[in-house]
Amino acid sequence: MMDRTVVVLGGGAAGLMAAGRAAEAGARVVLVEKGGTLGSKLLLSGKGRCNLTSAEEDMQTFIARYGPKGKFLYPAFTRFGPRETVRFFEDRGVQTSVERGKRVFPARGGAARVLNCLIGYLRQGNVTIYRNREALNLIIREGRAERFILRGQEAEGAAFIVATGGKSFPKTGSTGDGYRFAERAGHRVIPPEPALCPVRTREQWPLSAQGTTLRNVTLTLWEGGKKKTERFGEMLLTNFGISGAIAMDMSREIAQAAEGGQALLTIDLKPALSHETLTARIGRDFMKYAAHPVGDGLKDLLPMGLIPVVLERAAIPRERGVDTLGGDDIRRLVDAVKALSLTPDGLLGFRWAMVTAGGVDLREVDPRTMRSRFVENLYFAGEVLDLDGPTGGFNLQMCWSTGYLAGESAAKAALG
Ligand SMILES: Cc1cc2nc3c(=O)[nH]c(=O)nc-3n(C[C@H](O)[C@H](O)[C@H](O)COP(=O)(O)OP(=O)(O)OC[C@H]3O[C@@H](n4cnc5c(N)ncnc54)[C@H](O)[C@@H]3O)c2cc1C
Repeated sequence: MMDRTVVVLGGGAAGLMAAGRAAEAGARVVLVEKGGTLGSKLLLSGKGRCNLTSAEEDMQTFIARYGPKGKFLYPAFTRFGPRETVRFFEDRGVQTSVERGKRVFPARGGAARVLNCLIGYLRQGNVTIYRNREALNLIIREGRAERFILRGQEAEGAAFIVATGGKSFPKTGSTGDGYRFAERAGHRVIPPEPALCPVRTREQWPLSAQGTTLRNVTLTLWEGGKKKTERFGEMLLTNFGISGAIAMDMSREIAQAAEGGQALLTIDLKPALSHETLTARIGRDFMKYAAHPVGDGLKDLLPMGLIPVVLERAAIPRERGVDTLGGDDIRRLVDAVKALSLTPDGLLGFRWAMVTAGGVDLREVDPRTMRSRFVENLYFAGEVLDLDGPTGGFNLQMCWSTGYLAGESAAKAALG
């Protein structure tokens, strides 16, 4: 056994934080990363801008965003929560700013700045970094983790932290290896599923409007004619269907409903306007564009890419003059704008999912330390755990919090 050494597997958000904190707490630390670079997924986060947490101040509300499993996070958030996270980065020169929907980003420099800050934290603690070193197997003897077999070498330690991420976006290195190590230690793994994932639709029309961002719309999921859930915000039309924040946030519920074969999605393009107000608004626009084709009459109301789609849904030929439309035509137009329908046909899968639902069963991990309940010197942090949240900085926050706590607890154990 290597005295005082903490071995951290995985150089993502959770592993970087865990390694830095373990070193700060006095342990000798080895960080093992399969890929050639650290933080590959972190660099992609928030489209390269890194939505590193949420500015939601109420802890109950924050934790509720992870669903019923969120209560596992109380001790980690109490020790190192969103406020401490912002202070951590700001104290190390990463100023933050709060944007729409309480999303917190670095004010400058994006994800690269966040990664550099964490690499600085590792340097400060003299963390030894092994790159291009894949962990293959975990050796456990008499209830204690003894060493990890790496490709070409071994890593011995007094404590071990598994922070290998989930299975989503596998090109960043997250290929679900940690589940195997957890199972070896006797843990149950809740079957991983893609979450925050783009949605495929049967209809082809999103292709004709691909790249169009729909802002301030409401997306509603129906199953067997009953409303299941809805979200207000931003979404994106793509060549295969829909993506963007609200579509991804609803993706698991959409996938479940689609499996039953009775799912329908509707987009209300103008949720702030009632049918009556929208009818009046279209009437005013049509007066303004009275001598034009109907497509022109809608250009102040709708994104250009969507006008042909809405007209087709309302069964109105594009070339018809605005002044030839009657009350029935306008009723159909209003209906199409208020409930543009799509049939979901499953998700794009792990390859494009932002996060993985499922993972190491939380009942078998001590939330006060992140320690395995079966192997006394084994810890878990980040997405490898059965935790996932919505878009908006929630997924990185749970990596920072569990990583910090795992690092600190493993260091304490390693130092005896
Ligand atoms: C495109 C995209 C955008 C996102 N944007 C945001 C955002 O803005 N805000 C937010 O909160 N969340 C965002 N997320 C989610 C967030 O990035 C992840 O939840 C988070 O990065 C997970 O961190 P992690 O450290 O647990 O795992 P990962 O980042 O997946 O890191 C795991 C690391 O372990 C390494 N590894 C795996 N197996 C082995 C092995 N056998 N041996 C050695 N090393 C191994 C991998 O190579 C990898 O580097 C985004 C995700 C994606 C895909």
